[in-house]
Amino acid sequence: MKAVSFPLMSAGAALIGTGLLIHAGTLRAARGPLGPGRKYTTVERMQSGRLRAVHDDRTKIERTRHEVADKTGYTDYRAVMHVHASDSQHTGGTRAELLAAAHKARVDIVMLNDHIGGDRDFIADSWRGFREGILFIPGAESEGFLAYPSSSIKGRKWSSREEYIQIIKERGGNIFLSHVEEKLDWPVQGLDGIEIYNNHTDEG
Ligand SMILES: [Zn+2]
Repeated sequence: MKAVSFPLMSAGAALIGTGLLIHAGTLRAARGPLGPGRKYTTVERMQSGRLRAVHDDRTKIERTRHEVADKTGYTDYRAVMHVHASDSQHTGGTRAELLAAAHKARVDIVMLNDHIGGDRDFIADSWRGFREGILFIPGAESEGFLAYPSSSIKGRKWSSREEYIQIIKERGGNIFLSHVEEKLDWPVQGLDGIEIYNNHTDEG
C-alpha cells in the first residue's frame, strides 16, 4: 500500500471540523514523527492548560516591562501589525472603531491586513496616511503573508511564492510571514520578517 502523509494543519482541521475524538497517541502514530522543534501536535497545543500557560507567560513578561532611558536618539513608536477591519465578515469591526481603539491603546501606527475578496482594492480602497495623528498603512493577508506593497497590485498575477514576494517589495514594499504557528517549515528567504505572535494563540 502506498504511504500518504498529510500536512499537520489539514489533519487537525479535519478532526476539529468533523468533531471526531481520537487519542493523541493514535494521531501521532498515524502521521509520523513531529517536525523539528515540535514537542506537541497542534491539537495538543490547543488544549486549555497549554493555552493558559502561554497566557500566563505573556502576562509575566508584560509585568517586567519598564521604562528605560532612551540613549539611542530614536523615538519609540507603538505599532500593530496583522490588523483587520472592514475587510470580511468573520473579522468584524470597522476602521472607525479601529481608530478609536488605537487612541485608547495609545497605538501610533496601524498596519492593516485585509483579506482579499471581490472587487475591492486593498490598497486604493483602504486608509493610507495619518488619521487623527495615527499612521495607517494598508496591506493584505494573502498567500500566507502580511503584505504591504507601496502601491496597488490589483490585477497583477503571480505564479510562485518568489514572484509574489518580488511584486510586494517593488518600490519599497514590505512582506512578512504570517501565522507561523501553522507553518513551521516555510522558508523565510526574501522576507522582511515573520509574525511571532497573533491572537490565535489565546483562543481556547
Ligand atoms: Zn488575519
